[in-house]
Amino acid sequence: TRTFDVEQVRRDFPALHQDVYDDTPLVYLDNAATSQKPQVVIDRLSTYYEQENSNVHRGVHRLSQNATDAYEDAREAIRDYINAPTDEQVIFTRGTTESINLVANTFGKRLKAGDEVVITEMEHHANIVPWQMLRNDIGIELRVVPISDEGVLNLDALRNALTEKTKLVSVVHISNALGTINPVKEIVDLAHERDIPVLVDGAQSVPHGPVDVQDIGADFFCFSGHKMCGPTGIGVLYGRHDMLTSLPPYHGGGDMIDEVSFEKTTYADLPHKLEAGTPNIADAIGLASAARYISDLDTDGMTRHEHDLLDYATEQVSMIPGLSIVGTAPEKASVVSMAFDDLHPYDVGTILDRLGVAVRTGHHCTQPLMKRLGLPGTLRASFAFYNTRDDVDALAEALDTAATMLR
Ligand code: PMP
Repeated sequence: TRTFDVEQVRRDFPALHQDVYDDTPLVYLDNAATSQKPQVVIDRLSTYYEQENSNVHRGVHRLSQNATDAYEDAREAIRDYINAPTDEQVIFTRGTTESINLVANTFGKRLKAGDEVVITEMEHHANIVPWQMLRNDIGIELRVVPISDEGVLNLDALRNALTEKTKLVSVVHISNALGTINPVKEIVDLAHERDIPVLVDGAQSVPHGPVDVQDIGADFFCFSGHKMCGPTGIGVLYGRHDMLTSLPPYHGGGDMIDEVSFEKTTYADLPHKLEAGTPNIADAIGLASAARYISDLDTDGMTRHEHDLLDYATEQVSMIPGLSIVGTAPEKASVVSMAFDDLHPYDVGTILDRLGVAVRTGHHCTQPLMKRLGLPGTLRASFAFYNTRDDVDALAEALDTAATMLR
């Protein structure tokens, strides 16, 4: 049986073991922005380029066949990680942003003026702007479901926002800015009672262990590889099979066709219909390696460890005078967003950086949420399974030091 041993896990991540500036050990607490990569993922990328590099799906030669197998095996590994029913429902994209844009430019392009898309006040810009672009193009309406001051979604308001005009509910699974875990299954049920499809932005949920898209029941589920120990530039769109089948192509080009003539082109089947051009082969393979790495960890132990970090960090930073935690939903992932009464997040973040503590400051690509909360931004510490209580202590101490220096 596997047990979760954070010290052992940390040894897998070379980037965690370095000093920044002079002799200042790095304390990496910006995991919601991007995670570090374990050696197996780094090695997998090297091996691919050293031994397997070739174009996929059209080569008669051995290397191309190997690359194609590795790329399609990667799809299977991701299918397994999210428990999708078939490989064909795993579409490789550049990340969450491209996945949502894909849906907006295919599913969305079929909407009509007056049709409504429902989002929430805690969405990342990636789940706001594509719908606004569609509003500008075809005149759809955007309905925004409010949240409480604690950062909890108002489900009654969501229910009331659903009408005959609603064509999609698009909602974040876990808020990158607040850590709130939304009850996505309940949201899917509410929407499906009215035959409304649901897109779930899973960018912040997949880093905490395998997810089950069938259990969630969403019609679309999007995520990025780089937040779950994989490479940048690769991500996934999962979709319900009939939904993906019904979509028109997104990009046109090689790989996505069945037959092309100047008069007419027929398209390939899933998943290739939605993957035009040479895909990001290496990074898909690297992402699969990351998914296997996380799956091989003891998920329960890892979840307990992350909860412990969240509780401990919440307790430690709450003792700092003049600092409050932004986002206190009862269901939270290991994200601690903070605001000082009298200090700007950027000033504090800059001092933290000099002390080796890497956090995020600013609006976290959620400007409407910051406006709703009346804040210029927050100071965000986001914990991965490889962080420790020592990291929390370093954070709390650095916050104290920064506050003293700035006051
Ligand atoms: N949604 C959420 C909730 C996110 O946290 C992020 C990344 N910060 C994105 C979408 C966009 O992801 P990417 O930039 O990798 O496309």
